[in-house]
Amino acid sequence: MRAFFQLFDLDTSDPELMRAQFRSFQGHIPLLYGILVCNTVAITVTSFNAALLIETLVAPIVISTIAIVRAIWWLRQGDAQNLSDLEISRHLKRTCQLAVIMTLTFNAWVIWVYQDAGAYARSNLTFFLALSQVSTVFCLMTLRAAAMMVSVVSTIAFALYFSWIEGGQLLPQSLVLCCVCIGMAVVTHSFNRSFSEVVQSRRTLHIRQLETEKLSEENRRIAFIDPLSGLPNRRELLARLDRLEQDEGLLPKTLAIVFIDLDGFKQVNDEHGHQAGDELIRIVCERLRQQCPDNAILARVGGDEFTVLLETDEQTQNAQAAALTLAFRLLEQMALPVLVDRHVLQISGSIGIATNTDAKVRPRELLRRADLAMYHAKTEGKGQVAIYSDELDEGRLRRIEIEGQIGAGLTSGEFDVVYQPIIDAASGTIVSAEALLRWPRRTQGPLSPDEFIEVAEATGQIHPLGLYVLERACRELRPLGDLCVSVNVSPAQFRHPGFERQVLSILERTGFPPERLQLEMTESYLLANPGLAIKAIGTLKAAGIALALDDFGTGFTSIHYLKSYGFTHIKLDKSLLQGLEPGSKAAMLVAGAITLATALEMSVIAEGVEHEAQASVLRDLGCQEMQGFLFGRPESLAKLKSLLKDAGNEQQRARRVQPVQ
Ligand code: C2E
Ligand code: CA
Ligand code: CA
Repeated sequence: MRAFFQLFDLDTSDPELMRAQFRSFQGHIPLLYGILVCNTVAITVTSFNAALLIETLVAPIVISTIAIVRAIWWLRQGDAQNLSDLEISRHLKRTCQLAVIMTLTFNAWVIWVYQDAGAYARSNLTFFLALSQVSTVFCLMTLRAAAMMVSVVSTIAFALYFSWIEGGQLLPQSLVLCCVCIGMAVVTHSFNRSFSEVVQSRRTLHIRQLETEKLSEENRRIAFIDPLSGLPNRRELLARLDRLEQDEGLLPKTLAIVFIDLDGFKQVNDEHGHQAGDELIRIVCERLRQQCPDNAILARVGGDEFTVLLETDEQTQNAQAAALTLAFRLLEQMALPVLVDRHVLQISGSIGIATNTDAKVRPRELLRRADLAMYHAKTEGKGQVAIYSDELDEGRLRRIEIEGQIGAGLTSGEFDVVYQPIIDAASGTIVSAEALLRWPRRTQGPLSPDEFIEVAEATGQIHPLGLYVLERACRELRPLGDLCVSVNVSPAQFRHPGFERQVLSILERTGFPPERLQLEMTESYLLANPGLAIKAIGTLKAAGIALALDDFGTGFTSIHYLKSYGFTHIKLDKSLLQGLEPGSKAAMLVAGAITLATALEMSVIAEGVEHEAQASVLRDLGCQEMQGFLFGRPESLAKLKSLLKDAGNEQQRARRVQPVQ
């Protein structure tokens, strides 16, 4: 019973549904009133009686006027966006009430007219009444309460009246109308359910759509923003550059790209962990961000790589100057110590700058140029700024060319090894020889080792090259009594995971005693990978191999580092020997280095000795070994052998004194 009465209740619990009903009414109600007015006019025409003016003219005019006013009101409602939920519910309620009132009024009027109408007009009246009832219910179908009430009220009025008059002759029509009413109620009920389901699913769809939009916005954010720093990432930068290219010609813009790469970031990650690395990136980003002007876009384009894109309307020269000023400010900021996890970290940055001197340089090309300039700054000693020039590209092309030639040269035997004698300072006997690589049979002409070794280090080709030198030197010098050999090892070789194993296997293959081998390495590797270097040095020393720190005096090796690595020798760089005379500043410097090495139980080898004056000072200062043009240039194996023979010192050659470990 309760369920039955609920069919007539206006459901105001779902504002969304009410809005949908309201919107559907905007089309349906004017139609409903249109039909009502047509029926009213039709009835008036068929039943007009001048004697019954109120009944057949005034009443239909009143009914039609109300219907037209309401129809216009509904037509003017628009999309109901600015109506509140409460107003909508109030309008729907009023519509329900009005629908019942209008139905009753119309029915009452038809019955009134019916009494005084002729037989023909009466049949018209019943037809119009039934028609109005059916069309009204259908037009109100989206609002169940209204449709049900109209249906019940009009059917009851019709059935009661028409089964009672005409001696019950119209009873069958009344019964049929009752059946139609029940049918319409069922249809209305199920239609209403479907209607609210459609509204519901539209709402769900809308919510899903919002969620999808949110998700795709989130995806876009993830795709174009670096999550760690919150800065635009490489993809976003490239998209920006592409947009600038498309806009070309619209704006007279000068572009400058400042490409920044942190120096020593990998070391922080290795030594302090990735969390510390992340924190460092965050802090550095913040510092960079603060320095960037408003017209700049700072992006993180790699793990420790950033770019600043400067767009100005200025002249190229000014843009370059502005980029340079910014670059130096950024360098200063990066050089400031960073406190991470209670550690004070010190890093620096290498910066490359490229500006589009003419509009022909595509923005993406500008990025490549800035990257190349940065690479140049890095290889030139880090913590520097380099500006792109065509020569950099030429150098790059040359390096690519050399890279291809090294591989081919190694397989076709274009390389040679030469030996430079190292003498014992006290006795003057040749105790050792440094093996140095040469490329004499290069098809395009000889190349200095400084040039091709730099390329080989950058490409990783130094690894097979270095092993080639080691194996050849061990093989060639093994028969030369107890002459030692010193072989250069590049930092890149040390980084190779199987390096120590490969050295030991060469010694085994060639039968060269480990005690006669010395490896020379520069400090750049030590600074980058202290942990790994100590481990590698430990393994090699345990096998009996001596280890020398090459080019001492050109870098920043701290006493602490020197002590912890356990080198057996240091090689004083030739630059320290310039102007080396008794009492000179150079002599004081060398004396200090020798004192330091002795205190750390290391032997000193002076490199680049060209004059007897230098040799004499070195001897006086207690330097153990010397190497330089004064004693012999790097020469072929045959020349080394004849040098050894000439000196006639094979027998007297002193065994190199290994310092106590
Ligand atoms: P380095 O290890 O410092 O080698 C010593 C360099 O100083 C050699 O140059 C040698 O010829 C030069 N030198 C020796 N005595 C004198 C002197 O009295 N005066 C002057 N002005 N120079 C002298 P080189 O052979 O041109 O080698 C240059 C650099 O190339 C080497 O410097 C080394 O870093 C690298 N290198 C050479 N061969 C190899 C190798 O087989 N492997 C690796 N990794 N690097 C090598
Ligand atoms: Ca060397
Ligand atoms: Ca050296």
